[in-house]
Amino acid sequence: MTAAVETRALHKTYGQRVALHELDLRVQEGSVFGLIGPNGAGKTTTMRTLIDTIRPSSGTVRVLGEDPRQGGAALRRRIGYVPGELHLEGRASGHRLLSFYAEVSGRPGDAASTLRTAHDLADRLGVDLNRPVRTLSKGNKQKIGLIQAFMHRPELLILDEPTSGLDPLMQREFLQLVREARAAGQSVLLSSHVLSEIQQTADEVAVLSAGRIVADGPVAALRLGSVRRVRVIVEGTDAAAARAALERVPGIDALEATATAADVQVSATIEGAIDPLVKLLAQYDVRELTVEEPDLEESVLRLYGDASSSTPGGEEADHA
Ligand code: ATP
Repeated sequence: MTAAVETRALHKTYGQRVALHELDLRVQEGSVFGLIGPNGAGKTTTMRTLIDTIRPSSGTVRVLGEDPRQGGAALRRRIGYVPGELHLEGRASGHRLLSFYAEVSGRPGDAASTLRTAHDLADRLGVDLNRPVRTLSKGNKQKIGLIQAFMHRPELLILDEPTSGLDPLMQREFLQLVREARAAGQSVLLSSHVLSEIQQTADEVAVLSAGRIVADGPVAALRLGSVRRVRVIVEGTDAAAARAALERVPGIDALEATATAADVQVSATIEGAIDPLVKLLAQYDVRELTVEEPDLEESVLRLYGDASSSTPGGEEADHA
């Protein structure tokens, strides 16, 4: 399959600080790829190398089959980009600003249809394009940023924390836009702190920590190795015995057992397979059992935990 984005051994240093360590990333054409990681992990740096506003220290980058350093304006027209920190010219109205972008970043000769799409998107997102941009709220400015990225239906969307400032309803609308883009064959690279966003839209995900990928693969596979919360009520046993038995189940953590006269209520997390737990519980008189959906957030936080213990201090470690 063709890659919409491919980096090999992408390395970026800022002075002494290593922002990206030999990063290998591959975004399949027509897929949604989620990039998650804590502050300072290197998400923005990665994205900026793809649009050639940052030059790599070493390694190779291919975007839509081209080297961003050679592709120039022709390549950039094929990309829609939402920067992490959006700066928009404030005096112009949304309409004027988007008309300008449609001329410079749309397909040549396609500005009128690009602008029609911009107005459709503005209706969907509920932003007034007649007002000067500087008078818009943060969330509404962000919508202008989204519109300029999507309106020319680019082959590749690079979206750096695109939902920051959007209310929950608009976040949902945005996720719908991403799904529609994928259905239309566009490729999407999306960074986010909001893990549910990645869960709901991405085909593949990479977890970035201190400039390295600490986990990657299909979102579904990442969930398999993830953590679920379980709650059990067993009748008529003593809490200490139940606790001792449960502690031996592989992957059990954060175990709490409280007893009443009639039953024992247990709450725990379990990482990985739940079969050993189910087998154990079969020996008891189980009144209630709830197993929550795997929580990507909890899994990822554990990964961050592992990663930061191997590179102590995270972002600050590179100063040393
Ligand atoms: P956030 O979620 O906070 O936006 P991020 O994952 O996008 O973080 P980057 O902005 O890519 O992270 O930063 C990666 C690392 O590079 C950090 O350690 C950051 O301090 C450093 N960095 C980024 N830009 C510069 C710069 N211009 N000069 C020096 N260091 C920089």
